[in-house]
Amino acid sequence: MVKIPAPRYRSRTMKKVQRKTPGGKTVTHYKAKKVGAPICGVCGRPLSAVPRSDEVLKFSKSNRRPNRPYGGNLCPICMRRMIKQKVRSIVMGP
Ligand SMILES: [Zn+2]
Repeated sequence: MVKIPAPRYRSRTMKKVQRKTPGGKTVTHYKAKKVGAPICGVCGRPLSAVPRSDEVLKFSKSNRRPNRPYGGNLCPICMRRMIKQKVRSIVMGP
């Protein structure tokens, strides 16, 4: 007989782990998947100084992302390029 898992475990955010009990049975345990490092929205490089989303609540507001424009979304290289592009498009027109 196959036991249907509780609704909260029927999600792909949960990882299935097979565990052997002391009685010799194999049971399925459900573990929360670990979240990957945040990445830059343009180049995909992992962002430094930005905690993973599951540990972000441990930090104070100012320690959650760099305090600059596009901080936490773009890496510093892409941010610089983006700001230069925007200024040039304002000055020279579209
Ligand atoms: Zn980037």
